[in-house]
Amino acid sequence: MKPIPNSPEFAPLLAFGAHPDDIEFGCGGVIARETQLGRPAHFVVCSRGEAGSHGTPRQRTAEARKAAAILGATLEFLELDGDGRLELRAAHALKLAAIIRRFRPAIVLAPSTVENQHPDHARLGRLACDAARLARYGGLRDLRRQPPHVIAQLFFYAVTPEAEPGDIPPVLLDVSAPEVVSAWTAAMQAHASQTATRNYAEMQLTRARLFGARAGIACAIPLFPNDPLVFDSLAQTGRGARRF
Ligand SMILES: [Zn+2]
Repeated sequence: MKPIPNSPEFAPLLAFGAHPDDIEFGCGGVIARETQLGRPAHFVVCSRGEAGSHGTPRQRTAEARKAAAILGATLEFLELDGDGRLELRAAHALKLAAIIRRFRPAIVLAPSTVENQHPDHARLGRLACDAARLARYGGLRDLRRQPPHVIAQLFFYAVTPEAEPGDIPPVLLDVSAPEVVSAWTAAMQAHASQTATRNYAEMQLTRARLFGARAGIACAIPLFPNDPLVFDSLAQTGRGARRF
């Protein structure tokens, strides 16, 4: 197995979701790709989706566990303010920072902070950004039980097209491999209470095909870096997507 460039070899990935299906719909293909390469992945889901129109919290908890297993990820639920009630609080950012220190990821994924989407998504993105910062500060008394941790990169994912930040050029992750597409599709369909009403899985696959077409590949998922990307040389920068 080849080491993954630009990060500690197979260092863990940590993904935050506001609702039980956000990670799968927003970036499930990226998770499948990374875990199939051998990178450990852990999900932190910050509600049971109890404010949704479909599915009970119990169903949605079970669906999230099934989907995470399909993607090769471990999962925990974190109780904050509840679905539809998430607030920006320092105490929440510290809780997320404590998880970052416990799991010690290289890569953190969180929903984008674009305002015109479910408010929990944007606020969780903001909290995750704050948490990544707090996780590295040595003097924080609330976090003193675990040593500071510096992540390599925070990427935002967009649960819907509307949540894609217009001011950050995306990094496109190739998720074209059939085993990646099939795991991603199965993980989205595991959220049966949600996909029963609209074909959300097909909507996400169509979005990935459009990004793929722009890049000359079958399927791609956009991630939006919170910080400038650092490369050792121009040889690592890949190529640009410019097909239109
Ligand atoms: Zn959501």
